[in-house]
Amino acid sequence: MLILVVNAGSSSLKYQLIDMDGEKVLAKGNCDRIGIDGHISHKTHDGRQINEDCSFPTHTEAFEKLVDSLVNGEAAVIDSMSEISAVGHRVVQGAEVFSETTIATDEVIDKIDELAELAPVHNHAHALALRACKKVFSEDVPQVVVFDTAFHQTMPPKAYMYGIPYGDYEKYHVRKYGFHGTSHRFVSAALSKAMGKDLKDLKIVSCHLGNGSSITAIENGKSIDTSMGFTPLDGVIMGTRSGAIDASAVTYLAKKMNLSPDEMSSYLNKQCGFLGVSDVSSDNREIYAAINNGDEKAQLTADMLRYEIKKYIGSYAAVMNGLDAVIFTGGIGENSWEVRGGVCTNMDYLGIKIDFDLNKTVRGTLTKISTPDSKVEVWVIPTNEELLIARDTLAIISK
Ligand code: ADP
Repeated sequence: MLILVVNAGSSSLKYQLIDMDGEKVLAKGNCDRIGIDGHISHKTHDGRQINEDCSFPTHTEAFEKLVDSLVNGEAAVIDSMSEISAVGHRVVQGAEVFSETTIATDEVIDKIDELAELAPVHNHAHALALRACKKVFSEDVPQVVVFDTAFHQTMPPKAYMYGIPYGDYEKYHVRKYGFHGTSHRFVSAALSKAMGKDLKDLKIVSCHLGNGSSITAIENGKSIDTSMGFTPLDGVIMGTRSGAIDASAVTYLAKKMNLSPDEMSSYLNKQCGFLGVSDVSSDNREIYAAINNGDEKAQLTADMLRYEIKKYIGSYAAVMNGLDAVIFTGGIGENSWEVRGGVCTNMDYLGIKIDFDLNKTVRGTLTKISTPDSKVEVWVIPTNEELLIARDTLAIISK
């Protein structure tokens, strides 16, 4: 059975066509510059490629082109679009409305669009893409939506509430939602398989570290707390996002720099983080390259990230009253031995001991990096959000 997985933004549409027999990616690509001009890059499992300028006035033309690329021409992988059984869509914000994967009926799509108030950059684009996809595919092809926030809907109120008047929480829905849920769910399931233990018996801290980073406490297979909040700005320092900051520092800076709320939001999301502190780059690799050249602000940036991750691991071990495993995933978690090694140094009080030599060799492969006598197992687990979206889609259409 073939499932198309879609991750749509306002001007881009990333996709993968996955054959669920063997979970093999047949083709993947990106339609970008939607609404500007248009470009498709498309690659098949056996290395055939398309790189072409197109005209994408809306998401509809982008879907038409991606289907055409899958079916026709040199990089085709199927004979007809009717071979695609369902489409799974990533949606960033499901708020308190969606706590699990669901079929995208017209009502569901309208609700996703309404939630755009809580996720202005993402949800409206998802709704546009869902409507476009429905136009391009026949009505019998189910469209399924998988929410980044859904996994975190199990957090108890004491974890998700902010200290604001309760009436304002009710009126404006301002609370911690958490993100990267699909990734945390995927890697925690992979961990349970690798350890040969039921998720119900595990207390896990999952560190998804990429351009955006979030850390989640998972107990009995359920998210009980997470570092991102109302938006993906909260938590540890990220590529260009500040991470947690005293709200009064935000209002103070806004006044001093004469920034409107939108300008302040853009500042905190795009000009801060690694980029802002280091003055070097938002990219972890470039931070470490600068450190190797003696750059002190790059060193400070790296120190901040490792320190903050340590604090989350410690605090989540405290709230779970124990810890069985730590997961590192995402571009940084999977690849940066420096970040993993720094975080896991001097953590023996918590029962964490890693093999530093082994850690240095691990890049993007599922590996246990803790020592045999470490009480807490530490694993590098490559994430695969697209595959989980495809699995969820298959599960829901097979019901
Ligand atoms: P996103 O959150 O956009 O999905 P990724 O998960 O791809 O981002 O993570 C991007 C980050 O991963 C960048 O900071 C990049 O420097 C880092 N990264 C990727 N590969 C490596 C590597 N080999 N060594 C160190 N860091 C890496």
